[in-house]
Amino acid sequence: MRSKRELGEPDPSGRRRPVPVEGSEFLLDVDTVIYALGTTANPIIAQTTPGLEVNKWGYINVDERTNMTSIPGVFAGGDIVTGAATVILAMGAGRRAARGMLEYMGVRSPQDELAAAGGR
Ligand SMILES: Cc1cc2nc3c(=O)[nH]c(=O)nc-3n(C[C@H](O)[C@H](O)[C@H](O)COP(=O)(O)OP(=O)(O)OC[C@H]3O[C@@H](n4cnc5c(N)ncnc54)[C@H](O)[C@@H]3O)c2cc1C
Repeated sequence: MRSKRELGEPDPSGRRRPVPVEGSEFLLDVDTVIYALGTTANPIIAQTTPGLEVNKWGYINVDERTNMTSIPGVFAGGDIVTGAATVILAMGAGRRAARGMLEYMGVRSPQDELAAAGGR
């Protein structure tokens, strides 16, 4: 049994949350439901990638500054590194990894980064 959703009235924080549309319930005829939502690392990653270091929970270990993994030239970031986190953290990791890749390819040096940040 499913029902449709619509955005409700704003709550005290101003956020409009989805609420069920009254009378919109319907039956979906299926044989199998595969619930494709998870917040843990897939163990296949470590099992099938020789040389890739992961921690005890199966998340990929990376260099904190460049996001490069234990395999030179392979970068990772986001939930697969931090565990279930937030979009903003994943975006930050993406930026760090992009800089790390440029550095790895010799397009940019750590000094360039310092200069761009005003020496900070
Ligand atoms: C129900 C739920 C609600 C959430 N709500 C919020 C929220 O309100 N605010 C917030 O900031 N964060 C929220 N999060 C967390 C947020 O979604 C994650 O932190 C963020 O999406 C992590 O980004 P990511 O790029 O690391 O991973 P993902 O967004 O999971 O991206 C990984 C991508 O890799 C693809 N992929 C996986 N395996 C393979 C493969 N073998 N080959 C090719 N592609 C592959 C996947 O299909 C997916 O597109 C929520 C998470 C969940 C589950």
